[in-house]
Amino acid sequence: MPDSRELLSKISDVSTDTEYFSPMPAGYKKGKCRYVIVMGTVMSGLGKGIFSSCLAKLMQDKGLKVAPIKLEGYLNIDSGTLNPFRHGEVFVLDDGMETDMDLGTYERMLDQNLSKANFSTSGQIYNSVLAKERHGDYLGRDVQMIPHVTGEVKLKLRNLAIDSDADIVFVEIGGTVGDLENAFYIEAMRELAYEEGPGSCCFVGLTYIMEPKTLGEQKSKAAQLGIKMLMQTGIQPDIIACRAENPVSQTARQKISVFSNVPFERVFSMHDSASIYTIPSMLRDCGLDFEVLRLLKIEDRINLRKERKEWARWCDFTDKITKKTRDITIGITGKYTSVRDSYASIINALEHAGIWLGAKVNIKWIDTTRLTDSNVTEELKDVSGIIVPGGFGTRGTEGKIACARYARENDLPYLGICLGFQVAVIEFARNVCGLKDANSTEIDPNCANGVIDILPEQKKIEGLGGNMRLGGRDIEVKSGTIAFELFGKKNMVRMRFRHRYEVDPGYIEQFEKAGLVFSGKAPDYPIMQIFELPEHPYFIGTQAHPCLTSRPLDPQPMFVGLVAAAMKLHFRESDLPDAINIAQKICS
Ligand code: GLN
Repeated sequence: MPDSRELLSKISDVSTDTEYFSPMPAGYKKGKCRYVIVMGTVMSGLGKGIFSSCLAKLMQDKGLKVAPIKLEGYLNIDSGTLNPFRHGEVFVLDDGMETDMDLGTYERMLDQNLSKANFSTSGQIYNSVLAKERHGDYLGRDVQMIPHVTGEVKLKLRNLAIDSDADIVFVEIGGTVGDLENAFYIEAMRELAYEEGPGSCCFVGLTYIMEPKTLGEQKSKAAQLGIKMLMQTGIQPDIIACRAENPVSQTARQKISVFSNVPFERVFSMHDSASIYTIPSMLRDCGLDFEVLRLLKIEDRINLRKERKEWARWCDFTDKITKKTRDITIGITGKYTSVRDSYASIINALEHAGIWLGAKVNIKWIDTTRLTDSNVTEELKDVSGIIVPGGFGTRGTEGKIACARYARENDLPYLGICLGFQVAVIEFARNVCGLKDANSTEIDPNCANGVIDILPEQKKIEGLGGNMRLGGRDIEVKSGTIAFELFGKKNMVRMRFRHRYEVDPGYIEQFEKAGLVFSGKAPDYPIMQIFELPEHPYFIGTQAHPCLTSRPLDPQPMFVGLVAAAMKLHFRESDLPDAINIAQKICS
């Protein structure tokens, strides 16, 4: 009789005469790729993605190939239809996949573009199981959560392992242990560890240590119960990361260690820190990176010389975080002003730019629903620059238009992102070109001057009617413009898009005659993608979302330009070079 593992490895696909079902992609070599699986207990929002991306970064620095994947429990096929107020921002990948904000954390931390292979939802998993069922792929079997749905999850991970050629796949499971909707993912991970064999998987349980103000001490009971629930699924955690406000005490970590069978040195305090970019060094300082390498038995794959170089580069960057001396305030207008997660990438891009310029960027959130030309001065008097970010629908748009007008007329640095680009064009049309009724047809479908519109020829270009333009696109940058200088004199740059409406090409000539410069456009199509006002200290907008591609070691030039211009305005120092010079120096 062959033993169960041997039998399993022989089964490359479906079989009707055995209980073993685990579809293996062709070419998959067991043992080549290891898996780090990160799950949360006690509550969601603990920063599983942050932990996972920081650990992945430490492994990447050592010369290992890493590939993250987020497994979401919800049934939506992607994050495109999710309200950012409930779920944080929709992060768009270069291939157009609309994902969760955690993918942004991975891209930034790993300085790596991800794709739809790095993101899955329950909806996607069920969708492909049901498609296979209709196709007759299950050969008469009753299709079950185990083994078919869990098999689909493992297939997804193994496909990622093959396609990315990764040494380690980092699997982050959305939600918390105990949720009904992610239970099959957790079961799939248990099966994966069983099939791949000892040393193949490292399980990390994130948990939360409470510190009630009234007691003044850290309490680990909820964490213990959460971990117990994880162990009940048949998974023994290898590492426990304790989230807490303050460093987790030795006694609390000892309790967790005893309770969870996890050695004390692998119970890690992941307390709040001022910047997520200092967390890799927290992990490194307590040796967690080497603990994981030992657990996965891949110490022999690392390149220590590469690590020294990468780490020195990273420390140069993090040193600047602590040396930020000047404070600067940038206003951000937006509907979802109470939920910072809806603007995660913008906040990050501002942080990147600020760190490079030695400034701590404070954000003032501006609710535009009550703003008009008459009260906008009061609201903007204490900011040194303003961002009008992307958005959908009509609420607060007139307030945003008032902000664009104030910034243009008062030399206040302005960065318009997507909707922020559109409102600045509307404002320019109304108040400079005299088209009083200019608007976007998204806001007023019947307006006489729909300067922002869904255009028939664009519908043809996209081939999908009024559907969203999504994902990375090249932008042709006009020589001699501010944008051209900002991007280090490049004529072609790439940014990511997520929009339906655009500048109606019929108005371009009129706008340009009045002084607006369209410095970036789609190659071969009259789709305007960047504008600027040459006479203004810094007034620029883009139909793209430049924040999505800002990276800590490679800050996005349009943000660097904004912060530099704001600093120049705020500190009024004659020796501070202008935004373009600074941005160019940093981004070249
Ligand atoms: N609502 C606008 C459009 O669809 C802007 C979109 C956005 O800001 N992401 O074009």
